[in-house]
Amino acid sequence: MKLKTDRPAAKADRDGAGRPEISGQAAGRHERLSACDAELRACRLCPRACGANRLKGETGYCGMTAEIRAARAALHFWEEPCISGYGEGSPQDILSAGLPESRQRKGSGTVFFSGCNLRCVYCQNREIAAGKAGREITQERLAEIFLELQEQGACNINLVTPTPYIPQIAGVLGKARASGLGIPVVCNCGGYESVRALQLLEGLVDIYLTDFKYLDPEAACQYSAAPDYPSAARAALEEMVRQAPHAVFNADGLMTAGVIVRHLLLPGRVRDACAVADYVYDTYGDAVWLSLMRQYTPMKGAAEQYPELGRTVTAREYSRWVRHVTDRGISNCFIQERGTARESFIPPFDGEGL
Ligand code: SF4
Repeated sequence: MKLKTDRPAAKADRDGAGRPEISGQAAGRHERLSACDAELRACRLCPRACGANRLKGETGYCGMTAEIRAARAALHFWEEPCISGYGEGSPQDILSAGLPESRQRKGSGTVFFSGCNLRCVYCQNREIAAGKAGREITQERLAEIFLELQEQGACNINLVTPTPYIPQIAGVLGKARASGLGIPVVCNCGGYESVRALQLLEGLVDIYLTDFKYLDPEAACQYSAAPDYPSAARAALEEMVRQAPHAVFNADGLMTAGVIVRHLLLPGRVRDACAVADYVYDTYGDAVWLSLMRQYTPMKGAAEQYPELGRTVTAREYSRWVRHVTDRGISNCFIQERGTARESFIPPFDGEGL
């Protein structure tokens, strides 16, 4: 991905601005932990509102009990550059040439959680979305993993598909912060979270890197069995922006706070993609960054059921979307390079770092 606009390095650096005192959060954390138990006893963390008692081993749509399962915890170089940094062996390799040491060999400290509350038919991570890959880890181990990733030089902690575990993660983040976790925390989610679940993360997550998959309920129903996705995603985004209303970047161009909305262009759906970009810009203006994703990869199975999903996105389709965004005057956006529609971007879910 490349930064389309001028890097906003001149904006205030939040790194030195001071994180809230852990001790001052004690009361809030206590309330959060009670709320965590309640959420897991009758789970309504996402709009599916299954009501499963996950503390007793019941599962809902996501298929996960209260035990945390993850498939990988490692430095990851394939997010937007302000999230991944400019690491060796990454697509930012060329960009990193000649950069000062502080801007090299970064990477996002990414934890891929197992299970997903959306399970889109075209999912590229279906191995872990279905909960087949991964292993159980304790909350204590998860706190250690966060600190280990920080020691490895990660720009941030990047929680991928954390939705089924938001209450547990909220507790772990509180403990990890008290033990020295100082880098920003990114909630990398599908946009299909309940507002109440997101509120559990208030003050613990710095950056929301969220999908906004559909504004069309029919597509949401067809591809993700979630006809209420558009309204749920609008409410979730509102809450994310309330918590992180300003995009803040440090002197190295790394994001330290804010909201990035990702939309994956599906084949033949340029109009939908334009509508999502319009909605986000019309509602939040320059406060929210957009990430225009072109790496849709046809996965075996989905194409058989939905022939329209059996091809990659054409250069022409992506250009039409970019042109629309540019014509609207949207400058806070990320545009992807060509050649990103490859399965090789999917990391091995081999338990590394767990
Ligand atoms: S997180 Fe899982 S169990 Fe909870 S409401 Fe969503 S799909 Fe259902």
